[in-house]
Amino acid sequence: MPETIFSKIIEGEIPSHKVYEDDYVYAFLDISQVTKGHTLLVPKKASANIFETDAETMKHIGVAIPKIANAIKDAFNPNGLNIIQNNGEFADQSVFHLHFHFLPRYENDVDGFGYKWVTHEDTIDDDQKAELAKQISAQIEG
Ligand code: 5GP
Repeated sequence: MPETIFSKIIEGEIPSHKVYEDDYVYAFLDISQVTKGHTLLVPKKASANIFETDAETMKHIGVAIPKIANAIKDAFNPNGLNIIQNNGEFADQSVFHLHFHFLPRYENDVDGFGYKWVTHEDTIDDDQKAELAKQISAQIEG
């Protein structure tokens, strides 16, 4: 399959704010930070979407999902968390390397992040993103 920006992120060719990595998966902050701590989880073995992903890859994703979700919960104490996964352009997929969005939800928007699918790419700088990633990764053991 054609290489995507996420393969380059996994390879370190494009910088990212990593929150977790093992032999099979890579998790990093979404550049858009729709809400504080918005994170993406991707398998290292590239596939375009859920329709093209093998069961073995999904086992590794399945192990990683609660790790990432709990780390975000422990880091920011959100009121809830959505896990979102888009397949196909019609369903709002824009990067064609399977990925899961972790979108922590906050009752009072105390940090100035709102929940609408609105990007905060330009209002949260790299230092802030580095700090957010550090806070999440600190909650993951091993
Ligand atoms: P999709 O719409 O395909 O479900 O989500 C793709 C996500 O990738 C978007 O939320 C977008 O902000 C994020 N994204 C696109 N390019 C980059 C990038 O270069 N770095 C990071 N960290 N996220 C990206």
